[in-house]
Amino acid sequence: MPEDRMMPNDALRLFFLAIEEVMGKDGMKAALRGAKLDQYIDHYPPKNLDRGVRFGEYATAEQAVEDFYGSRGARAMLLRVGRATFNYGMKEQSAVLGLAGQALKVMPLPATAKMKLLLEQMAGAANKTLNQPTRVEETADAFLFVVDFCMCQFRPQHQNPCCFVTVGALSEAIKWLTEKNFTIQEITCMNLGADACRYRIPKTPE
Ligand SMILES: [Zn+2]
Repeated sequence: MPEDRMMPNDALRLFFLAIEEVMGKDGMKAALRGAKLDQYIDHYPPKNLDRGVRFGEYATAEQAVEDFYGSRGARAMLLRVGRATFNYGMKEQSAVLGLAGQALKVMPLPATAKMKLLLEQMAGAANKTLNQPTRVEETADAFLFVVDFCMCQFRPQHQNPCCFVTVGALSEAIKWLTEKNFTIQEITCMNLGADACRYRIPKTPE
């Protein structure tokens, strides 16, 4: 089954830490219970890159956060979870993920060139480490971060693109790099039947 595709333990662990940061310990427990992921209460996946957890479990946890806050309130919370996910990933796994970190930030290159490098590194990490096929495309005025296999396929169908965790993570990544706010949007979503989840990152800030 596609939802049984495996991802590294640390991806789900960092996601849980990010959810906990936004919802608190008790909220996190309630969400895990709601998602019928009780086995992870007080037992997060181990901090290693063995492929020991499933895309379907990640999807279930994401949906549980949404259900907890209701579809209206969930968007802001999921964006915050996504931002926290990037920060944890950068802090704990930047070497493994191949993110050049501070070195990239201070490179004497135009901001757009650095954005492209960072997005390509994130796509590379998604492919290699997360086991999630991802690529970067470029137009005259934007980059597209294209995810060809997204966990949103395993969530109930939504009315609008629903991958706010990824929008949040990309927003935080670009903010971290440029110290400016860019309006990042998910323009196609597999949850709505698209062939891929596509995120538009404009080349100029708000
Ligand atoms: Zn998606």
